[in-house]
Amino acid sequence: MMRNKHRYYDVIVVGSGAAGMAAGLTAVQDGHSVLLLEKGRTTGGSTNYTEGLFAINSYLQKEKGIEIKATDVLSEEVNYSKYKADSRIWRNYINSSAENVQWLHDQGVEYEGVQAMGAGEATWHIYKGMGFGVIHDALQPKFKQNGGEVLTLARAVNLVKKSDGAFEVTIKDNKTKERYKVETRTVVLATGGYLNNPRLIKEETSYDVRRLVPVSSGKGTGDGLEMAWHIGAQKNGLGMAMLFGGYLKDEDEPSYKMMPSQMNTAAGQQPLLWVNENGERFVNEEVVYNFSLAGNALYTQSNVFSILDQAVIDRMINKGNFMGLGIYVRRGQKMDKLQKELDQAVTAKKSFIFKADTISDLARQMGVPEDKLQATITRYNNFADKGRDDDFGKDPQYLQKVTTGPFYGFKLNVGAFCTMGGLKVSPANEVLDNNYLPIKGLYAAGNDASGLVGDTYGPNMPGTCVGYAFYSGRNAAHNINEYLKK
Ligand SMILES: Cc1cc2nc3c(=O)[nH]c(=O)nc-3n(C[C@H](O)[C@H](O)[C@H](O)COP(=O)(O)OP(=O)(O)OC[C@H]3O[C@@H](n4cnc5c(N)ncnc54)[C@H](O)[C@@H]3O)c2cc1C
Repeated sequence: MMRNKHRYYDVIVVGSGAAGMAAGLTAVQDGHSVLLLEKGRTTGGSTNYTEGLFAINSYLQKEKGIEIKATDVLSEEVNYSKYKADSRIWRNYINSSAENVQWLHDQGVEYEGVQAMGAGEATWHIYKGMGFGVIHDALQPKFKQNGGEVLTLARAVNLVKKSDGAFEVTIKDNKTKERYKVETRTVVLATGGYLNNPRLIKEETSYDVRRLVPVSSGKGTGDGLEMAWHIGAQKNGLGMAMLFGGYLKDEDEPSYKMMPSQMNTAAGQQPLLWVNENGERFVNEEVVYNFSLAGNALYTQSNVFSILDQAVIDRMINKGNFMGLGIYVRRGQKMDKLQKELDQAVTAKKSFIFKADTISDLARQMGVPEDKLQATITRYNNFADKGRDDDFGKDPQYLQKVTTGPFYGFKLNVGAFCTMGGLKVSPANEVLDNNYLPIKGLYAAGNDASGLVGDTYGPNMPGTCVGYAFYSGRNAAHNINEYLKK
């Protein structure tokens, strides 16, 4: 069994995603002894699946002449959060964001470019090789070269603050199940939030867990939060997950497998026709252009179906879709695999898809009232004919008539990428107690830290979540450097 080399460290980092890896690398570069713990077999967590990070005024944006004002971003984000976000944290993060992009580049990260997503600003710095490449080809090798130790299958299960101010971390070897203890002067909690802890999701959020489809590493079980709460950390900023709109749930496959599916994007992410369990339209479907708001809208009904006819499917195949899903399925992309994926899902009798030659039969299969669905579609087609949506005001270009069979219905669940929050932190990423005082030597970063959002993630400035993970990990390490000098 591989164990840590030393009994005592300057820094123990719990979690090896963007936040943990950035914290660990910065701390070893500052000359500290660092042990980085990862409970999984592989490092990188959900960061492995990320596409890019937020920044303004980066060298890439300057090359393209993209100018975005820091105070505009700040104002947009704190307003969006209804001032539940901490303006100081945002200000520092925004002001460090260009340097954050440069720092990653200096560690060996290459970028594809910078772009917007949906209707938002061009703040998304897409890295080559996705997050997996950032962790495995750049940060982790650098961390090791600088003397950092990585232990995989090593789960931190308990944290004790000792009377001398240091910490004792209990580690469980996930292979042998043995437990052992290691001491450290400082700890960075970077365990990636609690999306994969159904109990915490049920207790701390209002989401209907049956319809929530976590699409992530599966390892965000809230360990960092629970260890910190146990030693007096303040519970803060719970209750939100980064919803990303309609997602198909295939009971036979792990949820992440749907991400690159063109059928999933066609069904869940287009501004076309949605109906609820009563066959009624309930929202302006253009809401998909902000994927988090789309998730909220889907949750206003107890069940949602999207309806596509063959004509709109052919349009997406031949001319391109109306909306993509990140860089997995690009916006405007011709959906060359769509028909094949639909046919396969129908043949396999997947529970999320319904196909019929008539609207009546489609309604029967979906279990919604036939007359209501027929009336909704007649009304919708009428709006399309006159080019005006009298019910919800949708842009006429998305009023695509539903007339050409076969017709498809899709049961939409709600995808979620991660949670954000749980631990109240200072702008130095120190974990605060119930009196807003730092628990000295304890830091939280990335999705374990609160302060960035209210109840809904803001995707109009894309990349802010993983950008914050890199930034806050580094920020914690910079402040640890000061703390350890004392
Ligand atoms: C498919 C997908 C795409 C995304 N794309 C983007 C994007 O392009 N841009 C963006 O801004 N955000 C994106 N996100 C959100 C992004 O993943 C997160 O913002 C970011 O990765 C959080 O980093 P983190 O370091 O906090 O957590 P993670 O990367 O999840 O890392 C946490 C790590 O901690 C480990 N861990 C947990 N508990 C313990 C323990 N007790 N002991 C030891 N280790 C432990 C976990 O195993 C995991 O490896 C995406 C998310 C998903 C799922």
